[in-house]
Parts: sequence; structure tokens; C-alpha cells
Amino acid sequence: MTLNLPGFTHVYSGKVRDLYAPTLEDGTVRDDQVLLVASDRISAFDYVLDTPIPDKGAVLTKLSLWWFEQLGDLVPNHVLSTDVPAEVAGRAVLCQRLEMLPVECVARAYLTGGGLAEYQRDGTVSGVALPPGLVDGSRLPEPIFTPSTKADLGEHDEPIPYAEVERLVGSPRAAAARELTVRILQRGEAIAAERGVIIADTKVEFGIGADGGLVLADEVLTPDSSRFWPADQWEPGRAQPSYDKQFVRDWLLSPASGWDRNSGQAPPALPTEVVEQTRAKYLEAYERITGRSFG
Ligand code: ATP
Ligand code: MG
Repeated sequence: MTLNLPGFTHVYSGKVRDLYAPTLEDGTVRDDQVLLVASDRISAFDYVLDTPIPDKGAVLTKLSLWWFEQLGDLVPNHVLSTDVPAEVAGRAVLCQRLEMLPVECVARAYLTGGGLAEYQRDGTVSGVALPPGLVDGSRLPEPIFTPSTKADLGEHDEPIPYAEVERLVGSPRAAAARELTVRILQRGEAIAAERGVIIADTKVEFGIGADGGLVLADEVLTPDSSRFWPADQWEPGRAQPSYDKQFVRDWLLSPASGWDRNSGQAPPALPTEVVEQTRAKYLEAYERITGRSFG
């Protein structure tokens, strides 16, 4: 899973990314920089699947870089350079290595997924009361901040109240993270809307910069971190077609996979057709949003 990259030492692997730190000539490992390498791994239902999606790592990397530029006036980001070892060219970025806030910063402009479940139960999302009558896919009166824990590998992120974010990172940083997360979603939504894509919700991660301010890190506004919906097919009251892992999730839950989500067993390998459809969706998301051709 980890590569032998000359000049770098492997420091961490998440579900999708592998992190390496530059090694100096005397063998010391730099602690101020990190090479973030996006793999072609895909996760679903909290499992990392055995089957990679070709070019997924490059799509996530290129799309994040494009968004970091669009958001440049709103928030500083961790990118230092895209001059990276040839072996990982196109899917790696040299970044400032930051102390990360221990929360996933989520903002939602539409109601679905975990937010919908809470609303149907309590009429709230992350404790925020919402008007009655909303359904799956409804646009919210205004975007809301719905933070969650940063779960360890194999565990599920749990929603937390805003007061818990304040407790974890202090009130001023919690307020800054909330404000930035919502503004990133709003900017993203506005840009994507011109290209016929709805960004229903998104998750961002912040680190603490040298001046103590928040720096946008990790990935941003990708199909892995956000729900992208084709705008022309948006129809509240049902699950929306989406640009993400829908084919993978649908196939895994179908009888064809032979997999039982509640069995505790890892999911089976994906058939070629599902891999191809999923790859095409990731590429389409990149091309539609950026207006650039991937290849
Ligand atoms: P986890 O790391 O909890 O497994 P994940 O599966 O989403 O979450 P990946 O996206 O695969 O993780 O890995 C990226 C990891 O790198 C995350 O833990 C993220 O917090 C961390 N990270 C991203 N940018 C930086 C940065 N600039 N400095 C330090 N860590 C970073
Ligand atoms: Mg991640």
C-alpha cells in the first residue's frame, strides 16, 4: 500500500490518502511539510474496498487544487507545490504539515442522509430547529453547520453539537471554522450551479497555521467529501441521483453482490462494469465543474 518514494518517509495512511514527509540528507524527517498522495482506493459503508477506481486519486487531487484557487480569497490553504516525484505525479501535492482540528467541518445546503434522519426524528439537524414539511432533497432555508467527530480508521464519524466543537477547539476557532465552512459551501454552490451541479453538502478539514489562524487542508469540494447532484434531475421527495459512489453503493446493496451489510464481513470485489461507471462519474464531475478536460 505504501510506496518507496526517494526523499520521503511514510508517516500515515487514511482510507484514501497516504502521507509522506520529506527526508533530509542526514536522515531527519521534516515535520513542517507533508506529501499528500491520493490513491485510487474507494471506501463505502466505512470499508475500504479491494477494488481501486483508476484515476480517482488524480481526479480528487486536480479538483481540490482547482477549488483551492477558487477559494483563495476566502481562506488560506495548505498547498506548497505540485512538483512531486514522477511516480505520484498528478495525484500528490506537497503541503504545509498542520496540526489539524479534531473535527470534521460539515455544512449542508440541502436535507438528506444523516441530516434527514435526525430531522424526521426530532425536527432538527445538529440541534438546529428547521421548518416542518421538508423532505429528502429539500433545499434548506439557509446552510447549516453540522460538525462531526473525526473517527479512527474503520469507525463511523458521529455528529456532535456545536458546543462540543467549542469545547474541543475553543470558541473563537469554532466560530471561525463554522463561518468558513458555510462560506466555502456557498461559494462552491454558486460556482457549481453555473455548471448545472448542485452541491448539497460538504465536509472540510482545517489545520492551524503559523499565525494561529485556520488553514484549509485535506481535500475540498470533491465527490468524496461532498454530495454532487445533477441540477436538472433534482426532485425533492426522493433520493437524488449523484456524482459519487452511487453505483458502488447500489451494487453492494443489490442481490448481485451477495453481500450483507450487517454481516460484519468485508464487501466483495467490484465487477468491471461498476468500476468503469464509477470512474466515468468521477471524471464527469471534474470536467463539468472545472470546464477542463481530464485527459
Ligand atoms: P482518517 O485519516 O481519519 O482515516 P480519511 O480516511 O478521510 O480519515 P484520508 O483522506 O485518507 O483520511 O487521509 C488524509 C489524512 O491527512 C486525514 O487524516 C487528514 O486529516 C490529514 N491531513 C490532510 N491535510 C493535512 C495537512 N496539511 N497536515 C496534516 N495532516 C493533514
Ligand atoms: Mg479524508
